Formats: sequence, C-alpha cells, structure tokens
Amino acid sequence: MQLEIKNLSKTYSNGVHALKGINLTIPKGMFGLLGPNGAGKSSLMRTIATLQEADSGSIFLGDLNVLQEKNEVRKQLGYLPQEFGVYPKVSAETMLDHIASLKGITNSAERKEIVTALLQKVNLYHTKSKNLGTYSGGMKQRFGIAQALIGNPKLIIVDEPTAGLDPAERNRFHNLLSEIGENTIVILSTHIVEDVSNLCKDMAIICLGELMAQGHPKDLLNEIQGKVWRKLINRQEITQYRNKPDYKVISTHLHEGKTQIHVVAEAKPDASFEPIEANLEDVYFATISKKVDTITI
Ligand code: ADP
Repeated sequence: MQLEIKNLSKTYSNGVHALKGINLTIPKGMFGLLGPNGAGKSSLMRTIATLQEADSGSIFLGDLNVLQEKNEVRKQLGYLPQEFGVYPKVSAETMLDHIASLKGITNSAERKEIVTALLQKVNLYHTKSKNLGTYSGGMKQRFGIAQALIGNPKLIIVDEPTAGLDPAERNRFHNLLSEIGENTIVILSTHIVEDVSNLCKDMAIICLGELMAQGHPKDLLNEIQGKVWRKLINRQEITQYRNKPDYKVISTHLHEGKTQIHVVAEAKPDASFEPIEANLEDVYFATISKKVDTITI
C-alpha cells in the first residue's frame, strides 16, 4: 500500500497559494517531507489527515479516496499535529484510555492491554500516573506518538515533531519513530535536515507550495556530489559573492568567527575554493535556493 498524491492544490481565502499542483508517491517506511517555514508542509499534512479541503487534485491511500472517504481514512490514520495540546491535569494512562474509547475500542480489558503496551513502547510506563502537565517536551511528543498509534494505523503523520526538543530527547524520539516506520507509512514533516538524514529512506523537498525534489536521500546526494565548494570569507564580503554567473551561494555558516560559504558550481570557481563532501543539508539548501535566498546557519 502507498499514498498517492496527484496535482494537489490549495489557495487560502487570503490569496496565499499554499500548495501548487503537488505530485507525490509515498511508500511504506519513513518518508521525510522537508521544507522551510511557510513551504506548505502543514497544509499538505492537514489535507492528508482529512482536516482541511483541497481545491483540486486527489489523494489515495491504497484504494481509499482520502478526500472523499474521510471517516474511513480517519480509522486508519494516526496524526501528531504541530501544536499538540494536552489536558494538563489528566494522567497519560487516563488520557490514552479515553482516546482509545473515542477510537472505538469499547472493551475495557482490551483497552487496558493496548494502553499498557503503548506506554511501554514509548517508554512512559513508569510515569503513566503523572499528569500530562508535568511532562517535558520530549515526553509530551512521545505521548503524542502513543496516541497516534492507537488502533494500528496504516498511515502516521508527524508534523514538526522535534522542534524544541533537546538533543537527547530528539535522539529518543528518532529511535521510536524508526521502529514504527518498519510496517507503516510514516510521513515526517520537518525543517530539520538531520531528522530526515537520520531516519528516512525516501524524501521530498517542498518550497513555497511547490515540489522541488523527491527520491532517496542517497540519489539526491549523488546528483550534487562533486559540485559543492567552500570558502572562508569575512562576513562583510558576502554581497560580492552573490549573483555570480558561474556559481551560486547556497548557505553561509559561521565557523570560528569567520563566515564559511558553500557554493554550487559544475567546476571549481577559482583556486580559493575547496571541494567538500556534500551532505543532505547541501542538497536541501541547493534545492530551496532555487526559490528563496541563501540561508545563514
Ligand atoms: P509550513 O508548515 O511549511 O510552515 P504552512 O502550510 O503552515 O507551511 O503554510 C504555507 C503558507 O500558507 C504560508 O504562507 C502560511 O502563512 C499560509 N497559511 C497556512 N495556513 C493558513 C490559513 N489557515 N489561512 C491562510 N493562510 C494560511
């Protein structure tokens, strides 16, 4: 089973054209949807999650018409939205039990078994009786995954899940996601390249509502390998490196107080540039720099 998105478009009533004819095939496993803020990731995720309408196009989950058979889709969907509010005065165990009832699991013994297994899976069993309001950001996100997993969904959507997590919490969350991704379609929407490079075997990059690239991270990386060069400059020199005909500045990094630029060019621009082994971040910045200005990291 895969998720097939065809020609999906959406313009909001304020005139923002958030999705411009998106075509995407998303297979089983972890799929990374990368894009800067405002790219249209949440608009796409909310549409797949049946929470908002598209203007045109289609989405199929296997044979299921997502835009029309919403209730059927909801039974097979687990969704962790960007803003995941929790009831602060309710314990994780009680809340999961409640969500499981809402999802139609009426037998209380069965519910208890499911809730216990999920709490163990996301490593929150030992704090199951604590109120959600006392949980850290990472614990809340793991709880969010537990609720998304109720009912064994075939499709799981997680929208910007690691923003605001510290490195250890992020790592724990990555491990959890990669376990889930073995048997399910998991769409991970993020602006953090490392989330995708650590976890995803397929990916797409969107920017200003357009699909800019899709494929295996390795293949996208191969396309750019040998074409990325770096140079250390003084910060105030940056303007003279932009708008050059034979290379394009894709990112600027601060490095020991100096500015390091990464450029993309078919050949070494001049002797002052050195070649570098490109990584997924270079792929990302080279791709979105076709639409937006250079990124400072
Ligand atoms: P991302 O998740 O990649 O940050 P969004 O899908 O949230 O992108 O936003 C894409 C564009 O659509 C942005 O310009 C945003 O301001 C606009 N947008 C998102 N939601 C709405 C809405 N409900 N009404 C109007 N404009 C919106």
